Amino acid sequence: MPRFFIDSPPVDGKAVVTGEDAHHMLKVLRMKAGESLILCDGQGHDYSCTFMQANGDTAECQVQEVLPSQGEPNVRVTLYMGLPKGDKMDFIVQKAVELGAVEIVPFLAERSVSRPDAKTLRKKCERWRKIAREAAMQCGRGCVPVVGEPLTQKQAAEQAATCDAPLFLYEDEREVGIRQALRGKQPRSVALMIGPEGGFAPAEAETAKQAGMQSVSLGPRILRCETAPLAALSVVMYETGNL
Ligand code: SAH
Repeated sequence: MPRFFIDSPPVDGKAVVTGEDAHHMLKVLRMKAGESLILCDGQGHDYSCTFMQANGDTAECQVQEVLPSQGEPNVRVTLYMGLPKGDKMDFIVQKAVELGAVEIVPFLAERSVSRPDAKTLRKKCERWRKIAREAAMQCGRGCVPVVGEPLTQKQAAEQAATCDAPLFLYEDEREVGIRQALRGKQPRSVALMIGPEGGFAPAEAETAKQAGMQSVSLGPRILRCETAPLAALSVVMYETGNL
């Protein structure tokens, strides 16, 4: 069934879809009066609705039933991602949203090959926010995950350290595995920090440690920078009973 986010909650049992979503409903899906859809307010409510009519470029819907959104995990995971090359971040944002991350924050790592200027970065952020919204709609999330403003690695580590379980995914970690770091704990918030293609510089590992992050391994194989966040998110969701 089609699913869209609405910017303001329904009034008197009526919800209005606007902008690109309305265009999608009316022009792409060519929805007809009487067809069913789900509208989500991004605050944890799903509205089971019937499409009534188009009004200019908006779509008016009648609410049939309100249900709590099913798609939100009970753990808040923020992914701090070292800026990778090219379009890889597009893929990472989409998959992280599907796997349940609530926030994705890019940071400029020492070994980030891609170092876009401020204007390009702003454009990229806009693109990632759009990808996050589309992925959230498609996979049935109850909110649109945030794509945060890009940070330095130090800022990212300090912000990450405020979580219940701040995990620094380090390819050179030999002692502690991610599962071990999570076993027996029920963290309400988890931070995952992942490096770019070239991995982390030793100084960055030190910065993370100083900030209070725990260094963990994803096992004996080196995963690509686009694989590592998906593996780490899957482990966190599994260990906390959200997968
Ligand atoms: N080029 C580096 C690997 C970088 S992999 C090297 O060859 O050593 C990119 C990022 O993915 C790493 O910085 C780390 O955050 C994560 N990663 C990949 N494999 C990992 C593993 N086995 N354990 C922990 N983190 C891993």
